[in-house]
Amino acid sequence: MATRKPATAATMRNKDDLIVIGGAGGFIGGALTRRFHDQGFARIRAVDKKPLPRWYQRVPGVESLCLDLSDPGACERACEGAVEVYNLAADMGGMGFIERFRIECLRSILINTNLIEAAYRAGVDRYFFASSACAYNTLLQQDPDVRALKESDAYPAMAERGYGWEKLMSEMVCQEYTAERGMKTAIARFHNVYGPWGTWDGGREKAPAAICRKVIEAKGSGDHRITIWGDGTQTRSFMYIDDCVLGIDRIMHCERLVATPINLGSDELVSINDLVSLAESIGGVRLKRSYDPGAPRGVAGRNSDNTMIRSILGWEPGTPLRAGLAKTYRWIEGQVRDRRAGRHTVKDEA
Ligand code: NAD
Repeated sequence: MATRKPATAATMRNKDDLIVIGGAGGFIGGALTRRFHDQGFARIRAVDKKPLPRWYQRVPGVESLCLDLSDPGACERACEGAVEVYNLAADMGGMGFIERFRIECLRSILINTNLIEAAYRAGVDRYFFASSACAYNTLLQQDPDVRALKESDAYPAMAERGYGWEKLMSEMVCQEYTAERGMKTAIARFHNVYGPWGTWDGGREKAPAAICRKVIEAKGSGDHRITIWGDGTQTRSFMYIDDCVLGIDRIMHCERLVATPINLGSDELVSINDLVSLAESIGGVRLKRSYDPGAPRGVAGRNSDNTMIRSILGWEPGTPLRAGLAKTYRWIEGQVRDRRAGRHTVKDEA
């Protein structure tokens, strides 16, 4: 068990060190930008290929650049003068997106390949890569009553087609930049992240946001029915966004985790049916369920084994699903209201 509080940017860096965040117009990149800004970092460069008005969060006082990070020149511009680079940029979404657009997912390899090279040339001290539980061997995830995945379960490799293989390859690129060139890299395998300021409609949203939205819409319309993708027995764990950004910060600054992929996820396993029940109870409504067996459902079961993160950082994501989902539900309710009133909302088309 770690005895001291884990290092973070706030304990290791000067407040005027330049931090670069790729994918900052998206969900996790936006939350990370806000975290560093709130901690008093004065020089943050937020980068995303989306036009600025479509960024989920724009943090005042942060340099915000619209650049396509699959382009080497753009990566060079992004990394100029940086001390730390966080790669949260990827073309991705929930199961509905990653099962349908495997080529787009694979093409995200260009982002990491070019960004890490630019980071290396710029002489950055540390580089972070956002990997995913989709990198794990799918043969270990065929039962809803799943054994939690530990870090060694990625090999022998049989990752999720498209998206998962890109993550696995990019992890390897990071590891080799450390091994061959001596640049410190950090790699976290996120397990389903949810919370306010994530996409909730349009085709890229993930299960927690999609289910909250369906419950809110059914309640609002008086048509008390919900369609669930698959048979609802699929199991997953879900990590609240605040735990995710704290975890990124701690993993990035841990010497023992250099070039070492580690799970960053909750180990509170629930079925999709349980998730619907939870959203119903938060919304104070009961819906008649029907199931769409032809819809994307992903692997049958997936959970995060947190033995390694507990032993190295003395910490693991701990926000209870009910508490995190209640905040997410209320936020999406506000978004639905804003949309009805014709106001700007967080949304990305697939
Ligand atoms: P997101 O879609 O909200 O954010 C990703 C951002 O990357 C988007 O704003 C997008 O415009 C940007 N982007 C895409 N291509 C780009 C390019 N060429 N140049 C610059 N920007 C580009 O996704 P997120 O949920 O914030 O995920 C962040 C990272 O975490 C991704 O790498 C994702 O694969 C990984 N991840 C997320 C989850 C999750 O549950 N959200 C789970 C596992 C892994």
